[in-house]
Amino acid sequence: MRAIALLPDKLISQIAAGEVVERPASVLKELMENALDAGATAIDVKLEAGGVKRMRVADDGHGIAREQLSLALLRHATSKIVSLDELEQVASLGFRGEALASIASVARLTLTSRALGATEACAIGGGESEARPAALGAGTVVDVEDLFGNVPARRKFLKSEQTEYAHCAEVFRRIALSRPDLGFTLAHNGRVSMHFKPESAVTRVGNVLGAEFADGARRVEANAGPLAVQGLAGNPAAAKLSREAQYFFVNGRYVRDKVLQHAVRAAYADVLHGDRHPAYALFLDMPPQGVDVNVHPAKIEVRFRDSQSVHQYVMRAVAAALAGSAAETPVPDAAPALTPADLRRPDGNDGEGGWRAPVFTPMQQGGLGLAQAPAAYYSFAASAAAAMPSGAAQYAAEAAAAYAPAARELPASDMPLGQALAQLHGIYILAQNHAGLVLVDMHAAHERILYEAFKTDLDTRAIATQPLLIPVTFAAEAIEVAAAEEHAEALQSLGFEIVPLSGASLAVRAVPALLTDADAKLLARDVLRELSEFGSGEVMKRHRDELLSTMACHAAVRANRRLTVPEMDALLRQMEETERSGQCNHGRPTWYQFAMSDLDRLFMRGR
Ligand code: ADP
Ligand code: MG
Repeated sequence: MRAIALLPDKLISQIAAGEVVERPASVLKELMENALDAGATAIDVKLEAGGVKRMRVADDGHGIAREQLSLALLRHATSKIVSLDELEQVASLGFRGEALASIASVARLTLTSRALGATEACAIGGGESEARPAALGAGTVVDVEDLFGNVPARRKFLKSEQTEYAHCAEVFRRIALSRPDLGFTLAHNGRVSMHFKPESAVTRVGNVLGAEFADGARRVEANAGPLAVQGLAGNPAAAKLSREAQYFFVNGRYVRDKVLQHAVRAAYADVLHGDRHPAYALFLDMPPQGVDVNVHPAKIEVRFRDSQSVHQYVMRAVAAALAGSAAETPVPDAAPALTPADLRRPDGNDGEGGWRAPVFTPMQQGGLGLAQAPAAYYSFAASAAAAMPSGAAQYAAEAAAAYAPAARELPASDMPLGQALAQLHGIYILAQNHAGLVLVDMHAAHERILYEAFKTDLDTRAIATQPLLIPVTFAAEAIEVAAAEEHAEALQSLGFEIVPLSGASLAVRAVPALLTDADAKLLARDVLRELSEFGSGEVMKRHRDELLSTMACHAAVRANRRLTVPEMDALLRQMEETERSGQCNHGRPTWYQFAMSDLDRLFMRGR
């Protein structure tokens, strides 16, 4: 038996490096973020052999003082926070103080810097503990050579030069998007591949995502107290886009967040045709206290204090932009919300004689002073009811009664959601049960059903797969091809077979059996994006449910699809059988009950 011994510091760093430094792209992200934190106005990146052989990031920021250089390479040494309180409001991109130390433990790192006002530059690296004088006009240069050269076990996980470069280029694009006010240059193997001058946000988005995207895109601009969303949302009607770009930044930080993604998708739901995905570059600014960025070492995920409000807010801002009225329709910062409770129980508040509009209790305000999520979905009901004078309501009721289809037999009580009557505007199903009227959001409900089915499938065995008669081939980004290669096994367990045909095209040969109706290409792209973002290990553990929810969303019936009454009935029956079918995967309700007494009250019957 061996004695217990403390690990040497270098080994601790190498182990910790596993969290931060996975591949050249993760090194690049850390180095570029350090340059941003240092207040750089221009960042110059040079890569060799996909960044594995060499990566050099130069900035013109405030630099590091000579006596601090060696500290910068120590683990948990940072100039960015000093207390836990500060972590709560962290505004800089870095804060863990472990990036440089981690990188230095798995590569040859040289740090050269000239602090603002210093008379000369100094360099440290290659195991020296003392800084030595060096030549540099201003700012900082970090030179990283031979990544994982001393850790063969990790080096062998690196992919081809082109794949590693593709990942680096993506990191570079995200950071360039996040700071249009700065200049950026990227060169690979001696050739400049991207160069951006300081420019307006809209110009930058166009330069990064292509003119094709920028030309038809709508401006998103909303401001409500502490929250602001701006950016460009792709034209839903645009023909093919060269890139399926979805970029979201929270306080300048690129994030992948399901709440935000879903909010945008919801805003597009009515205007986007088929299974197409919107392209967008959006920037959400909010008080740092409202968002926790300390969820994951790679910091690509965040957690919102009040995710419902954020969802609501973003959805409205994007929807307003898509409706072409961003300027005239400021996103309200507090709208009356009709709660499910209001709908299910009469409030017992209507006095004698005379019309009383249902009482809409504003839901408890979130910490950010925003309306809660259901407001958007139900405020239409509120305004419609409030706007109707009593005479008109009476008349409307009579007119409706005259044209109402013959009442169908009352459903048996073992069908809690009742029988379908009709479809409203391609979005809602109207059904009748013993209590009254049931209103179902058909897409949300279907999505939930599929999601639960996937979960059960994956829990018990691999998801059933269905080979495609004719494989779907498509031109793919390098990063997508890379993901298909890297994550073949995870794809298989999810029911996919996606194989590279070349460095720039993929073939989908099989999809999950439940998803045969979905657009195979869009579905494949979504799943690949998820896998390349988080890696298959993470995806299958922590992001599994999110991935399944994305898949479910692909297959769920879209708004505007006509359903027959038997189809609608089938959906209601499936809902009854599905656990948690009362909410969609994103926590929105999937159905509401309007009791007869609610309706009677609306029409002043029985008074
Ligand atoms: P963190 O960014 O989390 O503080 P790092 O290991 O990335 O940790 O960097 C350690 C410290 O080195 C930073 O806090 C900062 O003071 C300094 N530093 C790193 N890169 C730069 C740079 N490009 N310009 C100025 N200072 C830097
Ligand atoms: Mg850092």
